[in-house]
Amino acid sequence: MTILVWIEQNNGTAVSSCWEVLGKAQALAGQLGTSAAALVIGDDVDAIAQEAASYGAATVYTAASPALARYRLQPYAAVVEQALDAAGATVFLTNATLRGGALAATVACSRAGGMAANVSDLRVDGGKLTATRAVYSGNILADISFESDLAVASVRPRSFPMPEAGAGSGTIQELSVSVDEANIREKITDFRAADTSEISLTDASIIVSGGRGVAADPEKGFALVGELADVLGAAIGASRAAVDAGYIPYKHQVGQTGKTVKPDLYIAAGISGAIQHLAGMGNSKVIVAVNTDPDAPIFEKANYGIVDDLFTVLPALTEEFKKRLG
Ligand SMILES: Cc1cc2nc3c(=O)[nH]c(=O)nc-3n(C[C@H](O)[C@H](O)[C@H](O)COP(=O)(O)OP(=O)(O)OC[C@H]3O[C@@H](n4cnc5c(N)ncnc54)[C@H](O)[C@@H]3O)c2cc1C
Repeated sequence: MTILVWIEQNNGTAVSSCWEVLGKAQALAGQLGTSAAALVIGDDVDAIAQEAASYGAATVYTAASPALARYRLQPYAAVVEQALDAAGATVFLTNATLRGGALAATVACSRAGGMAANVSDLRVDGGKLTATRAVYSGNILADISFESDLAVASVRPRSFPMPEAGAGSGTIQELSVSVDEANIREKITDFRAADTSEISLTDASIIVSGGRGVAADPEKGFALVGELADVLGAAIGASRAAVDAGYIPYKHQVGQTGKTVKPDLYIAAGISGAIQHLAGMGNSKVIVAVNTDPDAPIFEKANYGIVDDLFTVLPALTEEFKKRLG
């Protein structure tokens, strides 16, 4: 009975939200009287395996092959099943990225495991694992318990704190994998890296977000959001209304169907504060809202509120921060 955590990697770098999941897995393992193990799949996996051990995995299973260098669902799911058997795992956790979500669901299906997707909390209730996830547009938080032999969950990034890396006394165990390219239905024909010069939303400590409040001049509105973000070294976020209206691409969307963020400072400009938006940013340390409507729900959540037009407030903030931050 082990909790196995998949460590997602891109080009030899682990996705940091996996360490949050591994940290939580360790705490749960302590309560369940079991251990937490990690699984690293890729081509060159040694450095990430060491990292996983330093984040507290008692055993790190590795599966290395050139055919596994890039994520493909079919061979990755086969390796996860192999690792589940090797670890004798009864719980399998991933981060709830597109890849993690697909991997968790596929493994749950093939093993007839109970599946909780996009969970925001995991805990032990009466000696059993319980997951919490938002349902009905974030209006209800549902607790999910598992009746199956295998419990599977994908965990929303930033749901748990980042653990401290330590010396790491875990053992690394290489799985013997034979991947036959001819049997893999997914072929990668081209690989184009996304523009990574932008500050990542999920990792940002400051986020400036724009909403439908920019509608009078969306281009100028998001330019103002961007200028303030530049001065603060912040990432740019957006509400779904702004994304749906085509003001800014989806990758910037914060909220229930966008990204979950937990920055030190979240500035919401022209965002009303719908429950689905709050679901993605409500745990920010300090929230500043700029809105012309004094009754906008965002002010109930905000630590500081400015009731005014974002088209005048944002440039004023940018100027002031420029002066103060040099
Ligand atoms: C299943 C489901 C999932 C969803 N997922 C998400 C999600 O992930 N993220 C998300 O954001 N939403 C999500 N939504 C949509 C959500 O319900 C809201 O519709 C959306 O968040 C509203 O975006 P908004 O605040 O930008 O727009 P609005 O609600 O229209 O608010 C615009 C605000 O701007 C203010 N304003 C107007 N002009 C100015 C100005 N010049 N200066 C300052 N303030 C101004 C207004 O007073 C208003 O409060 C989801 C909805 C559903 C049903």
